[in-house]
Amino acid sequence: MSSTNIQPGYQFASDNTAGVCPEAWAALEQANAGYAPGYGDDVWTAKAADLIRDWFECDCEVFFAFNGTAANSMVVSSLCQSYHSVICSDFAHLETDECGAPEFFSNGIKLLLTESDSGKLLPEEIDRLVGKRSDIHYPKPRVVSVTQATELGTVYTADELAAVCEAAKRQGLRVHIDGARFANAVVSLGVKPRAITHDVGVDVLCLGTTKLGAPVGDAVVFFDRDLAHEFDYRCKQAGQLASKMRYLAAPWVGLLEGDAWQKHTTHANNCAKRLAEGLLAIDGITLAHPTQANGVFVHLPDKIADHLLARGWHFYTFIGNAARFMCSWQTTDEEIDALIADVGFWSGDQQ
Ligand SMILES: *Cc1c(COP(=O)(O)O)cnc(C)c1O
Repeated sequence: MSSTNIQPGYQFASDNTAGVCPEAWAALEQANAGYAPGYGDDVWTAKAADLIRDWFECDCEVFFAFNGTAANSMVVSSLCQSYHSVICSDFAHLETDECGAPEFFSNGIKLLLTESDSGKLLPEEIDRLVGKRSDIHYPKPRVVSVTQATELGTVYTADELAAVCEAAKRQGLRVHIDGARFANAVVSLGVKPRAITHDVGVDVLCLGTTKLGAPVGDAVVFFDRDLAHEFDYRCKQAGQLASKMRYLAAPWVGLLEGDAWQKHTTHANNCAKRLAEGLLAIDGITLAHPTQANGVFVHLPDKIADHLLARGWHFYTFIGNAARFMCSWQTTDEEIDALIADVGFWSGDQQ
């Protein structure tokens, strides 16, 4: 079996099983000194919002929330009337992992689901869903929501996003990005953050930090500032206005002030590449979805999956009809090699 001393556990279960990265931790410690105004009137919140504006090279409106579900749901509720609908992929977190929060926050909106190409929504699906009906009995499409990087570890290119935005705009729809792993997409494509947001017509982005290395927190970034009208009230009403806001804001400063965000996401993406290569070299393991960010999705024979789970490795098998292994800033080569060795052992590849 594995020749390393790695104890199998939650290393690859999700990118949120990792701890807080040193830079975010250091910023939190600094923010903890003394007194500061509450509810976002502090220097850390101002600085975090400015760093996000610098990152996107534009004068966007920025709000902070506790998590991605709340951020996504507040955005949907502010873009939609209760009779509107949101077009998204059937793998969208909005659909599969938010317990109906987007519908709940919006008093009855409906998600219109489309099949996707490994998690990526196809622009022609927007035309199809909007064109399907135009009568008063159909929930009126209002928003297109895409996830970047997707729930299946793939990444939209700038051109692909531009095509989605173009189709959406042609139909008079707004474009929202669920960016729980947005930084992984930026690094994967080697582009500036603006190239896959406001440059191609994205209206609003929910930008996650938890999977990037922060303890908690999402930012809602409005590139179209008009859409942010009274969004501060929505945050407060939704229970998302942090009283000690500096603790939500400080990790952003730690991540964005230097190159920590880039260093950690590059590392996580590279770990996924290394893991994918190792797994695919083993007999009987095939790729379920392309490895373009920090997740590896493979078809794993049941026999191997059962052995891995019994040995103590945690991973999901219900997402995208595959076994999912996520990498993070904290993943090590030794952990990757230990997992590969165990898979190889039970594949009968190694004795
Ligand atoms: C993790 C994640 C979120 C945010 O989830 P929360 O648990 O609410 O913070 C949103 N979208 C995607 C695709 C995610 O993977």
